[in-house]
Amino acid sequence: MAKITVDKKKCIGCGACVSVCPSAFEMKDGKSSPIKSKVANITCEREAAESCPVNAIKIEE
Ligand code: SF4
Repeated sequence: MAKITVDKKKCIGCGACVSVCPSAFEMKDGKSSPIKSKVANITCEREAAESCPVNAIKIEE
């Protein structure tokens, strides 16, 4: 299992992660939020993390 977190203090609400990986991230009150905090398999989450301009997405495996 991999743990997906978004640092809401860092997130600027650009929406890049949701565009890159809509299956894993959604916007809530202008900030990104992981749809599931734990996923069995990483799919587009890593790409989303790489697309984040402020490095707010953390993936722990
Ligand atoms: S890409 Fe980063 S800054 Fe942009 S919405 Fe997602 S977590 Fe927030």
